[in-house]
Amino acid sequence: MSEYLLEARNLTKHFLLDNDTVSRLAGKTRTLKAVDGIDFKVKRGETLGLVGESGCGKSTTARLITRLVEPTAGEVLFKGENLLTLSHKEMQKTRKSIQLVFQDPYSSLNPRKTIMQILSRPLEVHNLAHNWVEKRKRVLELLNLVGLGEEHVDRYPHEFSGGQRQRIAIARALAVDPELIIGDEPVSALDVSIQAQVLNLFRELQEKLSLTYIFIAHDLSVIRHISDRVAVMYVGKIVETGDVTDIFNAPKHPYTKALLDAVPDADPLSKPPVLTLKGEVATPIDPPPGCRLCNRCPIATPQCSVDMPELMEVEKGHYVACHNL
Ligand code: ADP
Repeated sequence: MSEYLLEARNLTKHFLLDNDTVSRLAGKTRTLKAVDGIDFKVKRGETLGLVGESGCGKSTTARLITRLVEPTAGEVLFKGENLLTLSHKEMQKTRKSIQLVFQDPYSSLNPRKTIMQILSRPLEVHNLAHNWVEKRKRVLELLNLVGLGEEHVDRYPHEFSGGQRQRIAIARALAVDPELIIGDEPVSALDVSIQAQVLNLFRELQEKLSLTYIFIAHDLSVIRHISDRVAVMYVGKIVETGDVTDIFNAPKHPYTKALLDAVPDADPLSKPPVLTLKGEVATPIDPPPGCRLCNRCPIATPQCSVDMPELMEVEKGHYVACHNL
């Protein structure tokens, strides 16, 4: 059995823009390279943190893994099997093992259904409980798992706080006994104090249920708290990946350094940022060849605008895509 639960190879999603007949005839279609050939691996039982600014392709990556969005190219190997070759029916089955938890606990729960109904639904869809007694027992078990009392079972989503709703969304994901949970900014909409509680819950559940996580966030402190390994994305590409301590203590890519420098520092005597980036984030629409950062990078050389650097191992398990290291 491979130590890797999930592996993405050359995972790619290009959206065609202006794809109407008139634009096509005039040769004016454009390509938005949301995810542009990324590779990563996730070991069983670990958390891969996917971090980067808004629009860099994190959510699209999550949707590609679960095929909520169909990839343009690449492979997603889950327990060695390429998910992208599965039929609709086979994928339906595999989806049970890969669950998504979204950012917004307010819109992800149907306001007209009770918690009992919401948590029963996945059990019914996947035929995991055969009668009401079995369902009720499992739903109460799930509520306990996420730290909510059984007295909540017949209430409606509007009767809960944001943090409690996210616990319900987590319980729903757990209902089908998944192996991999992909959290797409699952604590971003919560107050900071509640964020910490929900992050701790994720960690407890990981330990208790041997779960593997891909955790998406734009907030570095969240990524640092939860991740074993980190992949840093910039305009559809992974620019650096490695153990969480290496990424945070010894970042190598100019973009990762700038991201870390941008974190507000409470210590007034701390050194000024070592590196800041000028200019705007590059567009993913018909990007020019070369490194996506080259127009903003303080160490760019002419080669950087010619070809895209590949991820190279600079230290054991630490990969960086930069021509100038
Ligand atoms: P992130 O999660 O990092 O904020 P996203 O994956 O949501 O980024 O988006 C990456 C890029 O893909 C953005 O430029 C976004 O506008 C674009 N995008 C996402 N979905 C679509 C779509 N369905 N059609 C066209 N462009 C899209």
